[in-house]
Amino acid sequence: MRCNYLGLMLFAAILLGGCFNHESCCDHHGLPTAPSLLKQDSTIKPAVVVGGGVAGLTAANYFLQANIPCIVLEGPKPGGALAQSDSVRNWPGVLDAPGADIMRALKEQVVKNGGVVIDATLTSIDTKQWPFILTVRNNLDGRVQTIKTLTSVIAMGTEPNYLGVPGETGKDGYWGRGVTNCAICDGALFKDKIVAVVGGGDSAIVEAMYLAGIAKKVYVLVRRDVLRANDTRKVNTLKEMRNVSFMYDTAVTAVQGNGKTVTHLEILNNKTKATEKLVVDGMFLAIGSTSNTKILQNECELDVAGYIRLTNGQETTIHGLFAAGDVCDPHLKQAVTASAAGCAAALQAKAFLEERGYLPTSTVISADVEVVSDAKKILPKDKDKEIHVQQGEWITKITSLNHAQQLLESTAGKLMVVDVYGDFCMPCKKMMPIVEELAQFYDYQVCFTKIDVADRSFDIDAFARLVKTEQIMQVPTFLFIKNGNVVKRSLGMMSKETFSKLIEQYKQYDLLPKIQ
Ligand code: NDP
Repeated sequence: MRCNYLGLMLFAAILLGGCFNHESCCDHHGLPTAPSLLKQDSTIKPAVVVGGGVAGLTAANYFLQANIPCIVLEGPKPGGALAQSDSVRNWPGVLDAPGADIMRALKEQVVKNGGVVIDATLTSIDTKQWPFILTVRNNLDGRVQTIKTLTSVIAMGTEPNYLGVPGETGKDGYWGRGVTNCAICDGALFKDKIVAVVGGGDSAIVEAMYLAGIAKKVYVLVRRDVLRANDTRKVNTLKEMRNVSFMYDTAVTAVQGNGKTVTHLEILNNKTKATEKLVVDGMFLAIGSTSNTKILQNECELDVAGYIRLTNGQETTIHGLFAAGDVCDPHLKQAVTASAAGCAAALQAKAFLEERGYLPTSTVISADVEVVSDAKKILPKDKDKEIHVQQGEWITKITSLNHAQQLLESTAGKLMVVDVYGDFCMPCKKMMPIVEELAQFYDYQVCFTKIDVADRSFDIDAFARLVKTEQIMQVPTFLFIKNGNVVKRSLGMMSKETFSKLIEQYKQYDLLPKIQ
């Protein structure tokens, strides 16, 4: 009876699938096999990993080591949560390293192993058909396209939480003007200032430690009378720092400022109900995160808190769809456990591909996913110049204030553009190809430079003076300098057209008064 049923399924699948050779086109469930699908449609990818954090990149490495070509969609936060940690002390074999360094090495390993890492974000997934269909948006120019894949590992991480109090975000809020959730991105902008870190978990401790080395004063505002953080060593070190104060039972009820930047917080003592104003220049949120799974709601099962529900190891409720890292882990959320889950997910996905008859190949994956080349499309075709651009020679990285001074002297009379950016700041990353293209276009006419706010080799005191003088409150900030004077300051992202107009406008002027 069972054989007859399977036979019927097989026959139906042959008819529906339009295959001629049932031996190679369908498996014993009557489902098309991977080789037959790949033969019919060469655009189908064997494996796509969604997320460029530690779980996703580990999964990618395991696919690649098994000779399974793999695409990684890096998502909006390249490097994931670990890249935002200044000091990682629990990564095996590493005493203490910035998370960004660990993630850079991991990404390099994926790329060197033949992985294709795309600066794109998953916007939807259709798991009702197989191969799965992923819709992805290019992070650089917003273009959308679809990718078909035999298997996928979802490792999209979590989204940081917000307080939801007046003055935090929105039109009149101070987001990017003193309120942020990334010390490693924006911390350098608060040299000798007073900041508050909100939260009592491990992230708050890490953020506060980083800021304590930069800011004049760091308040850690904890809503209960105990910390949630597990890393007692770090907590104890932080408690001993002279410029750090813990305020327990403290809730932020509003963020206030002078219209330009944050000036103070309204805080409430949860026990005594007393309110007070706390003078600060900045507020760093570290109040946990929520699983990044809205787009998966109708595609696989989630738990009540929105984390992906796993059924068998790292497999989701959809056969062939796997998950790893914080997106499916409400409890541990450690870099090491995320990495282990990425490994397990890829090995299970490999078994799934084998079940569907997939034969690992040593062939390098074709980069026919259009988004791969989009960033380069806006760069000129000239091969030699392309190499220069990739090496970043069109833009000089400023490494000290003296260096900046020398550049200003050697380029006197020319417009200098300074891109003040953060290595792991997404808007900065989006602006980079535009800046590179313009730098190449205006070669010899305009001097393009950049400053990484998180660059440890940079003379931090000198940088702080620059930040203070130029009122830099967020990255990216673009300074247009002519004859030693800042003639224009532009905050945040802008289109290539707007950027070119500014260059055209300011490269004409010879002497302009310093703006206020
Ligand atoms: P957690 O969920 O662990 O902590 C969030 C903190 O924010 C808690 O103290 C929580 O208070 C507080 N909080 C939540 N909502 C609010 C609110 N509305 N107002 C004020 N406070 C609020 O998140 P983390 O991001 O800190 O850590 C996530 C995971 O990552 C953890 O498992 C952690 O161990 C891990 N991690 C590990 C690191 C390491 O170096 N080992 C570094 C960073 C993270 P309450 O306690 O009252 O709920």
